[in-house]
Amino acid sequence: MTREQEPDCVEGLDHAWTGEGEGGCDENPGVWSLGGTAFKFRRHCRFCGVVRTEIEHGSQRNPGDEDTTTYEVGTADEEAIAVERRRLLRNRMARARRRRGRAGASIRAAPSWPRW
Ligand SMILES: [Zn+2]
Repeated sequence: MTREQEPDCVEGLDHAWTGEGEGGCDENPGVWSLGGTAFKFRRHCRFCGVVRTEIEHGSQRNPGDEDTTTYEVGTADEEAIAVERRRLLRNRMARARRRRGRAGASIRAAPSWPRW
């Protein structure tokens, strides 16, 4: 089943598109030449597995040739999702730590009143 609206990725993540393992030419996985200036791009999301297929006709298009983008539901990679969620959580905690560190530094750097 295909559709033209981009589906959401799994909760909390954005799609990470890759052409790896999609076939096509070696230097450009997931890319096929359709002749002339037309190309097909096939990518899937490393997390939720949605497959995105784009057909682009380029400058030498015939009348009526429309670029299309379609999406197919794929198989989610639970392990990649878990790894990415842990990474995002670590980043968030590191940012929070840095923020606290800066606040602490500015308090210490506050001018002290002279003691008479
Ligand atoms: Zn996704």
